[in-house]
Amino acid sequence: MRPVCVPCKREMACSKTGRVLELLSPAPDPYELWSCDEWTCAGCGAVVLSGYGRHAMFAALTDGPDYAALRAYEAHVNNIVTIEV
Ligand SMILES: [Zn+2]
Repeated sequence: MRPVCVPCKREMACSKTGRVLELLSPAPDPYELWSCDEWTCAGCGAVVLSGYGRHAMFAALTDGPDYAALRAYEAHVNNIVTIEV
């Protein structure tokens, strides 16, 4: 089921697949990268991320140096959203 925009009362459209969400959180895994989809409301332009997998693509302490390389690539192509949780 697609995300729904409450103010517009309409389903949102998938505007990008393969978006990457970076979570900054306390130890033991302070950095995680999650693959997800970006959805946009055609009525008001609201944008949300949804559709995550069951596991993170990478977690800093468990996946080591590959994390930095993937993060650098995703940042270079402007495909990363970072939040603190
Ligand atoms: Zn809307």
